[in-house]
Amino acid sequence: MATTVITNISSLVTNDLSLGEGPLGTVQDAAVVIDGDRVVWVGTSSKAPATDNRVDAEGRAGLPGFVDSHSHLVFAGDRTAEFNARMSGRSYSAGGIRTTVAATRAATDEALDANVRRYVREALRQGTTVLETKSGYGLTVEDEARALRIAAAHTDEVTYLGAHIVSPDYADDPAAYVDLVTGPMLDACAPHARWVDVFCEQGAFDGDQARTILKAGAARGLTPRVHANQLSYGPGVQLAVELGAASADHCTHLTDADVDALASGTTVATLLPGAEFSTRAQWPDARRLLDAGVTVALSTDCNPGSSFTSSMPFCIALAVRDMGMTPDEAVRSATAGGAAALRRTDVGRIAPGARADLTLLDAPSHVHLAYRPGVPLVSAVWRAGVREA
Ligand SMILES: [Zn+2]
Repeated sequence: MATTVITNISSLVTNDLSLGEGPLGTVQDAAVVIDGDRVVWVGTSSKAPATDNRVDAEGRAGLPGFVDSHSHLVFAGDRTAEFNARMSGRSYSAGGIRTTVAATRAATDEALDANVRRYVREALRQGTTVLETKSGYGLTVEDEARALRIAAAHTDEVTYLGAHIVSPDYADDPAAYVDLVTGPMLDACAPHARWVDVFCEQGAFDGDQARTILKAGAARGLTPRVHANQLSYGPGVQLAVELGAASADHCTHLTDADVDALASGTTVATLLPGAEFSTRAQWPDARRLLDAGVTVALSTDCNPGSSFTSSMPFCIALAVRDMGMTPDEAVRSATAGGAAALRRTDVGRIAPGARADLTLLDAPSHVHLAYRPGVPLVSAVWRAGVREA
């Protein structure tokens, strides 16, 4: 394997406090040596060892590739009209998720695969090197299994979300749909997924249904994660902690008991500000969670209905502007936080032994991700040691 040094990095976020200064382990005038798909050396440029290849970062800032631990990319169709109506103050009742379910069921495998490929690529160009994605727009045994097979061709982080909403085919008998999700659908889906997820919310699945579904998934080797407390207060967050879920996602409406539960457990709180932006909803209070000692992740929730962005830099800017995070906290949540939400130790940091996922910015510091919102600052991306953008 050839070795490569990336040198002359003005400021490198490592997320390893033994390597650098401050809360992000930042190294000034840094260099990183990559061997194959791994980082093998991190330090100051002047001390970098000899390598086969050399890349001059020309004073750009560097940071770990973003870890987007929550997206819904296996879909077809478009919901522009719904978004436009919502932003125009008009009510719109074309069925939300059901619209996407119908379009997704009608799409070919090739069309769905091309869509996932497109959005994974789009995210990569914006610095995302690890991306979780979910099923949830099929809601039949065949369509959910198909979505997971397609997702698994693009990422290792695949989540079974047969319990996104009660399938319209079971509107009169939600209990029968829960039986399907925990029975034949789980049988067909478990081999293709790492995680099991439930939308625990009024109008979707209540706490008892969610517990049943998550436990059934766990019995098949899938680790729980939960769509929790997005639209209203509810049992999702405490259920996630009770079941040892990797993450409780959204966390917008939290009681003190919810915050205490998160602070006492290992479940990460994943915040998805693209959803609040795109629905003009109340922001999650990141400051409250961080002050309580909760591990926080930031993700896009990329989906065609409530958050159609693949941009982690955009989410970082929102988190700083509207959710009470410092720029350092937002960057850490978008990298190390996402890694924690996926229970990964090989990504979300730049240190010897880590996977070589590195993003360079056309800026002198990672703070510019929030300071210069909407500007395409990502100028180079390595994923597993390969220059991708
Ligand atoms: Zn979601």
